[in-house]
Amino acid sequence: MTTLLDVHKLSRDFGGVRAVNQVDFQVREGEILALIGPNGAGKSTVLNMVSGVIPPSEGEIRFSSQPLTRVQGYEYAGLGITRTFQNLQTFDDMTVLENVMVGMHTKTSASLFSCGMNLAKSRKEEKLMQEQAQTWIANVGLAEVASSLAGSLPYGKLRLMEIARAMVAKPRLLLLDEPAAGLNHTETAEMSRMFCEIRDNGTAILLVEHDMDMIMTIADRIVVLDQGSKIAEGTPREIQENPRVIAAYLGA
Ligand code: ADP
Ligand code: MG
Repeated sequence: MTTLLDVHKLSRDFGGVRAVNQVDFQVREGEILALIGPNGAGKSTVLNMVSGVIPPSEGEIRFSSQPLTRVQGYEYAGLGITRTFQNLQTFDDMTVLENVMVGMHTKTSASLFSCGMNLAKSRKEEKLMQEQAQTWIANVGLAEVASSLAGSLPYGKLRLMEIARAMVAKPRLLLLDEPAAGLNHTETAEMSRMFCEIRDNGTAILLVEHDMDMIMTIADRIVVLDQGSKIAEGTPREIQENPRVIAAYLGA
């Protein structure tokens, strides 16, 4: 299968501390690759580098064979990489629809506006964007609260709203940092089903998650980090039986 994301000898230092150490992995088209490991293993740091939030100290990241070295943070969504965050990044005093539409600004043509586009056309574009946002709001099961303020929603629904926001940009690669954290069993199962659907519709997923049930059910392959280094890679079954992985999780 074609490689979509190629991470090569990726490292990141914070002061004197090496948070990510020479990590290699690939995400292929059409798969869910899970990135797991104990707290502090370097998972979020890897996602932050892959999404352009922080630069690597060493190593290379290629997306669709193109190096991402000179790509600016705001350009990632346009390229086809979007993400959610370990800590919610939502606007409480905006509606769900407005929150989701934040994910679309990279897809609007700023140049059209600056060229003096007429109002009718901008209204048409706005309406189209709203329809696309509503589609994803419905897909994640939030249609009934689309015009509610985000601040009035429970935590689980805000997590879903963030996924809708990441999906409206029609990414080829979706990065998720602990999307099921704080969700109950039913919500997690529903989210798992949704991730499989997203994958089956052609968006590859790089999933950081602690919920082992979710990982073992939906991941096609798993990469395991411990203290910044990759210690294992394989299918869910291989990873479950891997002695190094078991030792890392038991703190042995
Ligand atoms: P994980 O997501 O696997 O729990 P992180 O990537 O958040 O791990 O963190 C990996 C290591 O890098 C930890 O030791 C953490 O304290 C350190 N770290 C992460 N971000 C920063 C930062 N901005 N400044 C300093 N240290 C950091
Ligand atoms: Mg983390």
